[in-house]
Amino acid sequence: MLDMHRPGHRAMVETAEKDAPPMPGGNMQRQDTSLTDAQKRAFQQNEADFAKLEEQMRSVEEAATARLSASGLEFDEDRRNCYLCLCSGFESSGSSTRPSTRCANCPHQMTRHAGHQ
Ligand SMILES: [Zn+2]
Ligand SMILES: [Zn+2]
Repeated sequence: MLDMHRPGHRAMVETAEKDAPPMPGGNMQRQDTSLTDAQKRAFQQNEADFAKLEEQMRSVEEAATARLSASGLEFDEDRRNCYLCLCSGFESSGSSTRPSTRCANCPHQMTRHAGHQ
């Protein structure tokens, strides 16, 4: 039996490849070459600052998780538990087309839940 060579299988693969989104034309993209030195510096500084923020966020989350565990609360990152309340897990309060960062199960933001990144 050579199931892998069925025509049906082949057709499915080709369709999937055609469905890939086309690359954008690029006329709206920012060009490196047109940046002034000040703009380049601004981007670099922003990158460094956001990296710092992510690092801080990680350590805050680690401490928060440890604190909850130590207090006897079961904390499940896979269920995206809230760090601030007994929320059963983050669920966007928006619609599927306009997702919200606010949780539908508690009054806290997405960033106050585990595994939000
Ligand atoms: Zn909450
Ligand atoms: Zn929540």
